Amino acid sequence: RAQATRLYSAEDPLTILTSDTLKETLRNSSSAWLIQFYSSWCGHCIQYSPTWKALAGDVKDWEQAIRIGVLDCAHENNFDVCKLFGIHFYPTFRYFKARSGTFDLGKTYRGPDRDLQTVRQLMVNFIQNHTREDWPVGCPPLESTRSENVLSLLGQKSEQYTAVIIEDEDSYVGREVILDLMVYEGLRVTRALSSDRALLEKLGVTTVPSAYLLHPNGSHSLMDMQKRLRFFFSSYLKLLPGVHRKQANAAHDPMHAGNGGPGAAEVWKEFDKSKVYMVDLESGLHYLLRVELASHPTLEGEELKTFKDFVTVVAKLFPGRPSVVKLLETLLEWLVSLPLERIPYDAILDLVNNKMRISGLFLSDQLQWVGCQGSLPELRGYPCSLWTLFHTLTVHAAQRPDALANTGLEEDPLAVLQTMRRYIGTFFGCQECGRHFEEMAKESLSQVRSLDQAVLWLWSKHNQVNSRLAGTLSEDPRFPKTQWPTPDLCPACHEERDGLHVWNEEHVLSFLKQHYAGASLKYASSP
Ligand code: FAD
Repeated sequence: RAQATRLYSAEDPLTILTSDTLKETLRNSSSAWLIQFYSSWCGHCIQYSPTWKALAGDVKDWEQAIRIGVLDCAHENNFDVCKLFGIHFYPTFRYFKARSGTFDLGKTYRGPDRDLQTVRQLMVNFIQNHTREDWPVGCPPLESTRSENVLSLLGQKSEQYTAVIIEDEDSYVGREVILDLMVYEGLRVTRALSSDRALLEKLGVTTVPSAYLLHPNGSHSLMDMQKRLRFFFSSYLKLLPGVHRKQANAAHDPMHAGNGGPGAAEVWKEFDKSKVYMVDLESGLHYLLRVELASHPTLEGEELKTFKDFVTVVAKLFPGRPSVVKLLETLLEWLVSLPLERIPYDAILDLVNNKMRISGLFLSDQLQWVGCQGSLPELRGYPCSLWTLFHTLTVHAAQRPDALANTGLEEDPLAVLQTMRRYIGTFFGCQECGRHFEEMAKESLSQVRSLDQAVLWLWSKHNQVNSRLAGTLSEDPRFPKTQWPTPDLCPACHEERDGLHVWNEEHVLSFLKQHYAGASLKYASSP
């Protein structure tokens, strides 16, 4: 049973079904289901579980059309239901149609269970097996459109974009992109076939797959893709201005209320997404020192040690303006020189606000977000700046390995990450976020062996958080949570292997170094 808990967890992007939930879930479900009945004792099931999780993550946005589930037949509570469904071998993959009013044992598919791309294409076929009557609610049409339907739209104004993927008949890219974008509004995706010569000629398409974009203002053009891959098409479309995930009103998210601080995003400032703005980093430090820390009236014991290490790391690695770096260094000297075991927060505030100001050392007095602006005051802001700060620190630690000399932290490639981990666990106001971060750290931080790996660890964990939060209330519709850096920022970071998107980590590392420590760092707050 312990094994069962380890194979799949609530953190995985799939549904864990049990005897209590299976029948009810399938009865008249608005979406189709693909369920793996497995046994936690079957070696093959154990080995296959990473692929199944990767598939579930890959098609997470298809949920309204088809969902991925698992059921552990080795769990004694599930014995009866596995018997009822006639499961004799593991793993058994069953496909269940949407909206079937009657009890249905599903259809077993015996396709190769290792090849993710094949399973994904089978899923597309399963969806297309539905009729008009039982078509999954919320699933857009997947069949190809005819040239007249596209040509009649050219030059027309509309409330939304229309993207047309032009491809060969046996290509799945168009249908995959349609499904990837089904939870987005502001855009309609359709597909046309390369056999439609008149259309290709009219649109000037010479290579397939290609995508043609009709803008709301009536203009239209071929999409300029670095690589003609599903991930590139989908990412490009998700990032179009005005295209965003359908979601409930983010203003009601209690976890994030107040994170941006009063006045954030009052006047919108244009900025460049490919830059890191110093004003965000300074505002983050301001919030951290003057607001977040204030809820701890005295610092002592582990809290004090965590704060000292945090100030050490920031003072030594923060690439700020000289007056800010000097302020951090003075704060550090003061903390180190004090023989006290308890420090009242007011003393820190007095030092930062009054004593240092006399010498001309001060942090900006207000919160001002530029790259971390949110479309509502409670979105983005401080947590955005904290991620940005820690990425900047891990990258600077990798660029300047000697920077932490004589601090007691110099030997440890994990120094910045462990300090971040302790800071988040001790001071970060969002406790739930801290709990999740601690889980990720416990699971894999000990595998980090070098400063470069530390940079990549934080990048990959941040992407894990992005994926978990996509479509939730903490997502700013204007800044969709995506796997970052997106192809427009770093085309070389993205590759496709056996139909699955993969990262080129070597390119990701050099991109992160350039982004967080190179010419991308902007000291002015305009683009
Ligand atoms: P953020 O995710 O804050 O990212 C800021 C900027 O970093 C982006 O604009 C982009 O330029 C860059 N970036 C994005 N991804 C990466 C990456 N992979 N590597 C490097 N740079 C990247 N909110 C919750 O609702 N639940 C949680 O459990 C939760 N956990 C959190 C844990 C931590 C440690 C932190 C700091 C924040 C957490 N948050 C959580 C907040 C959430 O992650 C976002 O910070 C917040 O929703 C604001 O999102 P954003 O759009 O500004 O982008």
